[in-house]
Order: sequence, then structure tokens, then C-alpha cells
Amino acid sequence: MELITLKNVYKTYPNGVGAIYDLSLSIEKGEFVFIIGGSGSGKSTLIKMLYREEKPTRGEIIVGGVKVANLKNSKVYKLRRKLGVVFQDYKLLPKLTVYENVAFALEVVGADNSKIRGRVLEVLDKVGLKHKAKSYPDKLSGGEQQRVAIARAIANNPKILICDEPTGNLDPNISMEIMDILKKINEELGTTILMVTHDITIVEKMKKRVLVLKEGRLVKDYKEGTYKHEEF
Ligand code: ADP
Repeated sequence: MELITLKNVYKTYPNGVGAIYDLSLSIEKGEFVFIIGGSGSGKSTLIKMLYREEKPTRGEIIVGGVKVANLKNSKVYKLRRKLGVVFQDYKLLPKLTVYENVAFALEVVGADNSKIRGRVLEVLDKVGLKHKAKSYPDKLSGGEQQRVAIARAIANNPKILICDEPTGNLDPNISMEIMDILKKINEELGTTILMVTHDITIVEKMKKRVLVLKEGRLVKDYKEGTYKHEEF
């Protein structure tokens, strides 16, 4: 089943800078896909269009059955319920505990109050941080903060998890711990994962599908297990 489809997508920013040119691709349910490419190649623009932070100038984007390109602001919540997003800088709320950060994500989508507690503890357990539920983010290491951000992103059981350089601020061994968690989420929950990264070591180790962007174009689509490092 196709979960993400882009057809002939173009994006030019209002200042005239072109970011994406004639991009078409499809991603199936359950896939784990890396998006790589040099700085300015369009990686962030691509994923921002998937969660409707940016709109394409032209073309069609369908995410989890929702036509995203022309989605009205008032309907964006329908899309966001299908997606979890993880950022390089975690974006946790500093005044809330780990538990409250995750619970908040469920409260804003109107989850049933009686179910929130159990669900929060379940996802914290999934990322190995149940014992830190009462801690505040500034008392956690970077890797732990990112694990909380992952727990928050999956709390609502999204079909798709979008990760924008989730290991960008972390040491190599901590990065691999984050990758183990993402792999587990992909395999055990069947969540489709899209991850932007600069870290070729991770890409080589994971042996997943790899999309390569260059100057706003998709220049390579390596099937699972076929990626080899090349200069583009
Ligand atoms: P990457 O994530 O691969 O570094 P981006 O998607 O951020 O690439 O950027 C692609 C191109 O779009 C670059 O030329 C960048 O300068 C430009 N760009 C990105 N965001 C904006 C913006 N908000 N306004 C104008 N140009 C932008």
C-alpha cells in the first residue's frame, strides 16, 4: 500500500529560490527510507512539504490518503494525526516533565483522558525511559532528550514518522542507540519511517532504501540493501 506519493512536485520559495524540481516518488507502508544529499539539495523542503509546513508550487502530494498540496490550514490537523515528526534539536517543552511532554501530544489531539497515562508510560517504555518520567528535559542527556521526542512523536500511533537529522547533535554511539530505537519502531509497530541525515555511516549500517537529492532533484533511489557511497 502506498502511503506517500509525490507526482511532479516543484517548489520555488517566494523569494524566487528554487528548491525542488519535478520530484516524483512513492513510499510503501512499512518502509524505512533515508533521504540524503548535500546542503541545500532540498531535503528539508521535501519533508516540510510532507507535513505541510511548506506547500509545493506545483504537483501532487498524497500522505496517508490526504491530499496535502492544497490542504486548507483548517484541515492540517487531519494530516498531522497521521504523522509524527522528530527534529534534530528535540523541541521538548522545558517547563514540562518527560511524562508531561508526551502527555501533551496526546491531549492536543483530544485523546481520551483515561487512556493517556497508560499510553504515555507505554511509549516511554518503548524508548527505555519510563524511569525518567518525572525528570525535566534539562536533566537529560541529548540522547535521552531525543528518545523522549521519539516517544512523543509515536504516542498517537502515527502511520508515518518523519525524522529530520535526529542524530545530528549526537555522538556516534548514541546515534546508533537512536537508530536501534527507530528500527524497532519500524519493525514492531510497522511505522513507515523517513529520515533525513548527513551521517553516511548510519546509512551504510542500516541497509535501507536511500533517496539521494541533488540540487532539488531526485538523482538516485537505492532499493533496500543496495546503497553504496558515491559522490553526486
Ligand atoms: P537541505 O535541507 O538539503 O539543506 P533545503 O531544503 O533547506 O535543503 O534548501 C533547498 C534550497 O531552498 C536552498 O537553496 C535553500 O537556500 C532554499 N531555501 C530553503 N528554505 C528557504 C526559505 N524559507 N526561503 C527561501 N529559500 C529557502
